[in-house]
Amino acid sequence: MADFLLENIAGKEKPYVESLRKLLEQFQSPFAPDDSVGIKLHWGERDNRSYLPADYAKEIAVWLQAQGAKPFVFDTTVLYSGGRRTAEDSLKTAADHGYTADFLGCPIIVADGMDGRDIVSIPADYKHFKTVQVCSVFDKAKGFVIFSHFKGHMVSLFGGAIKNISMGFASRAQKQRMHSDYHPVLTQNKCTRCGICVDICPTKAASISEPDYPEYDLKKCIGCAQCIAMCPELALQIFWNSDMMVFQEKLVETAAAVWKKIQGKTIVINALLNITVECDCLGGNNPVISPDYGFIGGYQPVEVDAESLKMIGPDIIEKVHPGIPWQRQLSYAREIGFISPMNKGI
Ligand code: SF4
Ligand code: SF4
Repeated sequence: MADFLLENIAGKEKPYVESLRKLLEQFQSPFAPDDSVGIKLHWGERDNRSYLPADYAKEIAVWLQAQGAKPFVFDTTVLYSGGRRTAEDSLKTAADHGYTADFLGCPIIVADGMDGRDIVSIPADYKHFKTVQVCSVFDKAKGFVIFSHFKGHMVSLFGGAIKNISMGFASRAQKQRMHSDYHPVLTQNKCTRCGICVDICPTKAASISEPDYPEYDLKKCIGCAQCIAMCPELALQIFWNSDMMVFQEKLVETAAAVWKKIQGKTIVINALLNITVECDCLGGNNPVISPDYGFIGGYQPVEVDAESLKMIGPDIIEKVHPGIPWQRQLSYAREIGFISPMNKGI
């Protein structure tokens, strides 16, 4: 079995559905007829314009159905305000982006439930987390397709398969446990007092009163980083409450705990398309930092992410997100057995 499956899009036209189909045909499918298979993806925040079009999810669903499997598409609710904080809003955002059951030809759900309480604790037994709390999807699916839009990210450098499994499966409480390692810090001479950070803050931790600059109540701040991402003047920066490594390790621990539950019956696909500075959690236009490459597939998320990074060249993302110890994700994955210590290529 090849470590990686590659399908590039050179000379093809968007959407690159034919390339994805060719990649899928290369997999040794772990799914059996009648298996319910969850396709985990991110359908983009409200007003985001860099999310992957629904054509790719539909192609994966068609491929699964051709094997007799029963696919469904899912994501989970998020901590910050916007179009995915509740399941109802999230499904509306999905529909606005073309992700409907009619188009996909399969159900689409928010896997932590309509009220965010459809969750379960699973064993982790790592340094930071003894258990992790994730969406209760394991009894709904016999197998999974982890389909990730590979791009930059302000705290993890890159967002791909590891992040899609970690933050993507996590309950809101688990997301908060991972996000608690940082909060915003203001550079006053850049701030125009526009109030965007106050309007967007989901916990009312940010406040402003004339003629003062905004303040951030750290007791209320959940570290969602939305204010940092949305500040038009780049006046807010991340202040790490703990060693920056801790966030990278927590991200990996959550993914590793989920992986223990789904490995062997899961395939992993990264789309190296529309590779933007930030993740699809942000609204608006998100600058592209790299050419399109195509799709990388495999059977192990750390391997697929490492190969994706190699293909793009991490220096391109490091230029826009300097100083993030992203390498810790890979070295820690090896230390805790998420990736084989024998895998010297990572
Ligand atoms: S969004 Fe940025 S510029 Fe606007 S008030 Fe907040 S910190 Fe200042
Ligand atoms: S102040 Fe804290 S909770 Fe509010 S938007 Fe910023 S990071 Fe999120």
